[in-house]
Amino acid sequence: MTHAAVGLAIGYAFPIVRRGPRYWIACALLPVIPDADVVGFPLGIAYSELLGHRGLSHSLVFAAVLGLAAALLFRQTENRSWRQIRHLAMLFMLLAASHGPMDMLTNGGLGIALFSPFDPGRYFWDWRPILVSPIGLKNFLSPWGWAVVMDEVRWFGPPIGLLVSTIAIYRKITRKV
Ligand SMILES: [Zn+2]
Repeated sequence: MTHAAVGLAIGYAFPIVRRGPRYWIACALLPVIPDADVVGFPLGIAYSELLGHRGLSHSLVFAAVLGLAAALLFRQTENRSWRQIRHLAMLFMLLAASHGPMDMLTNGGLGIALFSPFDPGRYFWDWRPILVSPIGLKNFLSPWGWAVVMDEVRWFGPPIGLLVSTIAIYRKITRKV
């Protein structure tokens, strides 16, 4: 949820000519998609493997490919110029890439394979204030899950609120001038 909220805030802040429903859906979804790798657990893929949780799907390479593919999809489905598609590609790569460094702030699980597939190392930031989220909906609907939500609201709520309100005020002022 926090990944999606960060995506929507970045999507709001990003200077782009035309938004629309597909744009907002992309902003909310792209930062969340890396966690689709949890399907690997029932498939027997170990956490620590290349395709395991927080593996290749959380890398910068994956974010670049995903962002580019999403932008090209917009070229197919919306009548946008190549200039706009280039801007969208930059934004979408940034949105997808926001996931890994955010997970690196969590205090549990394995680290994030940010430089996979070139480097299989799993990384965290030195500062890890956020309680790691439990895996699976059933585990999430528990006191642990609730504590995670509160933790993420505490750490991400103020910067998101500040960013969005600053941009909103800035746009209101510059439109009036
Ligand atoms: Zn993740």
